[in-house]
Amino acid sequence: MPNFTLRYIFSLTIIALLVTGGYLLNGQVQKTQLGDSRVINIAGRQRMLSQKISKVSLEIQNTIDEAERNIYKKELEEAVALWERSHKGLQEWDEELGLPRKSSKAVKKLFVAVDPAFQRILEAAKSIVRELELGQNDTNVTAFVATVFSNEAIFLPGMDKIVFQYDEEAKTRVEKVRRIDFLLLWTVFLVLIAEGFFIFRPAVKKLEEVTEKKQAILAAIGDGFYAVDADSNILTMNQTAGKLIGCSPSECIGKKCYEVFDVKNEKGENISIKDRPVQIVLATGKKVSTTTTTTTTTTTYYYVRKDGTQFPVAITATPVILNNKIIGAIDIFRDITKDKEIDHAKSEFVSLASHQLRTPLTTISWYAEMVLKGDVGEIIPKQKKYLEEIYRGNKRMIELVNTLLDVSRLELGTFKMEPKPTDVVALAESVVDEQQPKIERKKLIITKSFDKNVPTFSTDPKFLHMVFQNLLANAVEYTPEGGKIEFGISLDKEKQILITVSDTGYGIPKNQQDKIFTKLFRADNVREKDTDGTGLGLYIVKSIIEQSGGKIWFESSARTAEGVQSGGEENKGSTFFVTLPLCGMKGEKGAIK
Ligand code: ADP
Repeated sequence: MPNFTLRYIFSLTIIALLVTGGYLLNGQVQKTQLGDSRVINIAGRQRMLSQKISKVSLEIQNTIDEAERNIYKKELEEAVALWERSHKGLQEWDEELGLPRKSSKAVKKLFVAVDPAFQRILEAAKSIVRELELGQNDTNVTAFVATVFSNEAIFLPGMDKIVFQYDEEAKTRVEKVRRIDFLLLWTVFLVLIAEGFFIFRPAVKKLEEVTEKKQAILAAIGDGFYAVDADSNILTMNQTAGKLIGCSPSECIGKKCYEVFDVKNEKGENISIKDRPVQIVLATGKKVSTTTTTTTTTTTYYYVRKDGTQFPVAITATPVILNNKIIGAIDIFRDITKDKEIDHAKSEFVSLASHQLRTPLTTISWYAEMVLKGDVGEIIPKQKKYLEEIYRGNKRMIELVNTLLDVSRLELGTFKMEPKPTDVVALAESVVDEQQPKIERKKLIITKSFDKNVPTFSTDPKFLHMVFQNLLANAVEYTPEGGKIEFGISLDKEKQILITVSDTGYGIPKNQQDKIFTKLFRADNVREKDTDGTGLGLYIVKSIIEQSGGKIWFESSARTAEGVQSGGEENKGSTFFVTLPLCGMKGEKGAIK
């Protein structure tokens, strides 16, 4: 890429040099003009002085009065001295008289021509003075006066020629300087034109090319893309985004992004401006991204076009940060209608397959139970042992199929919510009872701290049971023998139900904590310890809780070969927190998705 800055600096230097040259030249011109006018003045004065010398000489000749003669003599002496000095100064250089330079050859030639007359006048004038000083020989004076007069007639036209020559030379000099000035001006003009051609035009072209390239890159992005400033004004947008939201980029640019389209959630509720992904990014400076599929339980946003139609989107909204200040945000989004359809089809398939599997599995379970109980005759101990294995394996399969069915129902939104006043503490007690055999087997110490003030609240006990069961089963499963579990239910500061399940178990590795609520995810540190897990429990729990308006989070540290991984003390284990609003769940079919 040509270096425009260097070119620009180069041209500016040339212009600066030319302007400085012009300035210096003008100074010189003024000086020359001053000198020329001085020369012309003095040359003109020489004429007058020669006339004065003639006039005073004549007065001396015609005067008999001694005193008067003396005055004229003095006048003559002064005139002669100035005349003589100026004559020399004009040809040579006399700073005191303000004569700047030696005369040109042409002038010198004219001076040579006038010089004999000058010398004769000078000699005669000086002789007159001498005669006066010696004793006034009138005859001599008269002769000298005659010499002065006769030579003045030669000197004056000669001097006229000199003045004229000076004038001509001055004019030529001015003309020359004017030409140089003009040349400088034109050079500056040409440099400016060259600047336009070789700097500005290619620079503008380059800029246009870069802009075009950027636009082409933006247009080539298959996803919708737009950028906003800190006030949510759209700065740029690609065609894909325009097509998706039904508004051409040129129409949208300059408008607030929340005025161009609306955002809704899965339930069809409008998302307030401050809760929209881009506005969250602008407010917090943190990236917001939603996924394309239901591997996690994050909200699916729907972008609503001006005509009311809408489509689900996967969004990645990131902040634009300059000097530690959020100056805008970028939203890259994709229409995930197709992904949702595929997901839906997958969930339907899982649902169907689970249903189909449940019946034969249940049949196996019954018959195995019957045979084990000896309902169909005596069985030998070896047969019993194998049958028990079949029965346990089948039970696990039924559990898995039921879990898969739960997941697909949640995703398809076919779970029927039946909220009713529920005693949370009693429900929690029943879940602990269910886990009791395993707790005892592992010699775990369980502490229950159930606040008596927790009121009965409206919820579907079936769902709440799933939540308690999953959290407690995990704590039991992932805590080694002799460990401690604390199960707490209380009211928090905001008067919400706060459920905590805490253990001193293996914990969750820090680098995997962000995936813990993802479908089918199991952390590395427990996989070989427990091979039965499905990685679906917490996904289900999070779906239920978020759809009930609650929140779930956890704190955990994992023990690794090097020690505890996540800044906590050893054996800290994990604590899961759940909050549920006291207003309870809303009873509607398909509310949980
Ligand atoms: P599963 O327990 O069937 O594997 P979950 O969805 O219930 O599936 O849990 C997902 C993963 O989260 C677990 O595999 C485990 O790695 C981690 N996890 C959950 N609860 C705990 C806990 N209390 N202690 C340690 N790890 C846990």
